[in-house]
Amino acid sequence: MSLTFLVTGGAGFIGSAVVRELIGKTDHRVINVDKLTYAGNLESLPSFVTDSERYRFYRADIGDRQTMARILDETQPDIVMHLAAESHVDRSIDGPSAFIETNIVGTYQLLESVRGYWQALAELDASRARRFRFHHVSTDEVYGDLEPEEPAFSETHAYAPSSPYAASKASADHLVRAWRRTYGLPTLVTNCSNNYGPYHFPEKLIPLMILNAIAGKSLPVYGDGLQVRDWLFVEDHARALIHVATRGEVGETYNIGGCNEVCNIDVVRTVCQLLEALKPEKPEGVARYADLITHVTDRPGHDTRYAIDASKLDRELGWRPRETFDSGLRKTVAWYLENPQWWQRIQDQRYRGERLGLSASGPSLPGPASRDEAGAP
Ligand code: NAD
Repeated sequence: MSLTFLVTGGAGFIGSAVVRELIGKTDHRVINVDKLTYAGNLESLPSFVTDSERYRFYRADIGDRQTMARILDETQPDIVMHLAAESHVDRSIDGPSAFIETNIVGTYQLLESVRGYWQALAELDASRARRFRFHHVSTDEVYGDLEPEEPAFSETHAYAPSSPYAASKASADHLVRAWRRTYGLPTLVTNCSNNYGPYHFPEKLIPLMILNAIAGKSLPVYGDGLQVRDWLFVEDHARALIHVATRGEVGETYNIGGCNEVCNIDVVRTVCQLLEALKPEKPEGVARYADLITHVTDRPGHDTRYAIDASKLDRELGWRPRETFDSGLRKTVAWYLENPQWWQRIQDQRYRGERLGLSASGPSLPGPASRDEAGAP
């Protein structure tokens, strides 16, 4: 059956992958609602999406309840998939307030808009209201970090967020569960590990390393680089989200992971090896890409290890990732080499200034970073 998905944050890294997957590979309709912060980029949505009659874009803030109520009423979604967020850990350390505003207050406002829509739907069409889902997309960072020998995070692992970003996502997860328990809103929550892949904002670890390396710049790795992350190819995540939204059990939480635990320094070394194969002609003065690796002061409160136990999703809903870390990383490096027009516009900041009407002195890209770090995800 063809459904209408309202995707918040559909111009972001993961949201745009969901929109590309929905329009490119399914018959579903997509309403993309995005505020277009620095992280939102409509160029991540190719013409097969934007020209489709099944696609509509609204520039709006999830925290604007009146506007969201109007959009919900106009578009009558069957599924609201909520990805809009401030998502960068380093930015949350430098300025937590946007994270509180969007991730906590914004999610609360959105829950209220959606509750109003869903209750009105129940009066008009009870069977559609029963099918309705609010799918909240969250992170494994809500669980805190793990010692090397500890078992991976399961869905019942206690919350212990470390960064302002993780704490704001944990708060949002609690709100969503409370709206399920208190008001009966049919919710689903997914907590996912580190994503990587095409269209990833250049401040994040993997694109930062690829782009710095081909420019002959240093590859900054936080601390010893031994922080372990579980990596998931973004298109696998998009497929998993659609799978859960359409088949998941209401009220349940599903962890999504790639079964790829890799430490940050090995991620950077693998990027360098792939570049040696895919772009052997190096900038002047660079003998080996790996010679550009430098260690920088660690991030405060840096989590040492995340690992996701995604067996519930496999067991109950029959979902597994298609890509290994090697195959996904090769695709990612190749994509950045083949699509310089996408990242160059972001890198030189013209993109942001033009679209948002900001002056050249507006906020700049941070130096070393990634979702999650300067040499970490
Ligand atoms: P992103 O920063 O690339 O994209 C976020 C999008 O949300 C942007 O397009 C931005 O313009 C939009 N947005 C921000 N504030 C908004 C607001 N108030 N109203 C409407 N739109 C707004 O983030 P991402 O990496 O694509 O992550 C998407 C979601 O997945 C987030 O909720 C994040 O917490 C979660 N997540 C991310 C990862 C990862 O590795 N990137 C892993 C697990 C979970």
